[in-house]
Amino acid sequence: METMETMETMETMDNMYYLTHKSERINYQTNYNEKNKDKIKEYQKQYYLKTKETKLKTQAIHNSKKIECACGVIHNQSNKTSHMRTKKHKRYIEETHYREERKESREEMAM
Ligand SMILES: [Zn+2]
Repeated sequence: METMETMETMETMDNMYYLTHKSERINYQTNYNEKNKDKIKEYQKQYYLKTKETKLKTQAIHNSKKIECACGVIHNQSNKTSHMRTKKHKRYIEETHYREERKESREEMAM
């Protein structure tokens, strides 16, 4: 019986040791973060800038990609919106639309 009790006490002591050190570890981590606040911030900033640069590069490649529009004009991805507003493009869309309408009505008449 005595041995059992001793073992239990040891276990409890072990637990206490663990708990004490656990809170110490948490304290250490908190202190570390507090002490290295600027370092961590700087690291995060560098990381942000690095990813931003990569993102911008990817975007630039994407934007400089040449696309041939259905109207026959070759434009960049970044110019797509402004190209859609050009007279040439609008005229092409209108003409195509008009041609298709006429085709449809001709087919109706044939029936
Ligand atoms: Zn176009």
